[in-house]
Amino acid sequence: MDTREWLRRLVAFDTTSRNSNLGMIEAIRDALAAQGVASELTYAPEGGKANLFATLPAHDGAVQGGIILSGHTDVVPVDGQAWNSDPFSLTEKDGRLYGRGTADMKGYIAVALALVPEFLSLKRAKPLHLAFSYDEEIGCLGAPVMLEALKRRGLRAEGCVVGEPTGMRVVVAHKGMNLYRCRVHGKAAHSSLTPRGCNAIEYAARLICRVRDLADEFRTHGPYDDCFDVPFTTMGTNLISGGIAVNTIPDACEFSYEFRNLPGMSPDDIQGRIEAYIHEDLLPRMRRDHDAARIEIEAMPAAVPSLEASERDAITRLARALTGDRGTAKVSYGTEGGQFQNAGIPAVICGPGHIEQAHRADEFIETAQLDACEAFLRRLAGALAD
Ligand SMILES: [Zn+2]
Repeated sequence: MDTREWLRRLVAFDTTSRNSNLGMIEAIRDALAAQGVASELTYAPEGGKANLFATLPAHDGAVQGGIILSGHTDVVPVDGQAWNSDPFSLTEKDGRLYGRGTADMKGYIAVALALVPEFLSLKRAKPLHLAFSYDEEIGCLGAPVMLEALKRRGLRAEGCVVGEPTGMRVVVAHKGMNLYRCRVHGKAAHSSLTPRGCNAIEYAARLICRVRDLADEFRTHGPYDDCFDVPFTTMGTNLISGGIAVNTIPDACEFSYEFRNLPGMSPDDIQGRIEAYIHEDLLPRMRRDHDAARIEIEAMPAAVPSLEASERDAITRLARALTGDRGTAKVSYGTEGGQFQNAGIPAVICGPGHIEQAHRADEFIETAQLDACEAFLRRLAGALAD
């Protein structure tokens, strides 16, 4: 099956993150099995979804080392988007292939799968691995489950190419994403009796302003990395609820804030400054109103560590040599690359298609991008040959 046929098959699976991805995973597993390649499936704790990891051993049967080709199987919803074609039916027009996930990132997976017969026929000194995850789009939830299983098996790899759409440029860094939910608990009272209550919204507001002050500090004083389009760490509160009536002092307020840290900035240090403000300043003041007042903060699982590839890593040098790309490209969106890096597997991001065309109505990939990716992966496999 060639790349286009694979892409047609993959796009037809509606793997929007809220759905099961098992149909797609099992189709890939079966196609690999037919070529003698075994897959390891690791399942989501709640079931219904799985990652697939498969190794194409070296010619001597070695499975350790080598390079991982990584992609996520899920796609973002098409809800409310005005498409000019069926998003789950691959449609070709003027050198473009339209469909949800064509760019982000079933195109890369299709290229990798189409090349498996070639990869297998090459006399490679090192293995190649395929790593296809679930639930990337809702916070990179699947890849850690797969990486944990690899760690248990003691599987090592020298590098990973995450095929997110970069227009086949080599992206060497992305920011981290950290999301927290905060619940402020005060005390309810009639709104005419302010000294008898503890207004959860007002204290939440102080904390939200503290988040904003920190964001302003990073914006004004750095640190900066001008390779990012937004060259500093960003923070913000984007969701809030609280209160039950206009004449009742609210006893609860809940909000969520996030920060996107530059690589090299510790998310724990940033969060530590928020918590220091809570414990040294805000909570003591709240408890003068109400001695049982409390603030709970929960780190949400949708957290993505930042990526910063070293130019010295073999995978970075190889990707640069194969693409001829010497630029320093860094992106603000998160990927699974940081998770691979944290698991001891150096990663770069390089894949077909463009992020501008992802997540939108009429998402597409240029056939020329798929051709470029095929050439890239052929050369990559060739570099592992004897
Ligand atoms: Zn993606």
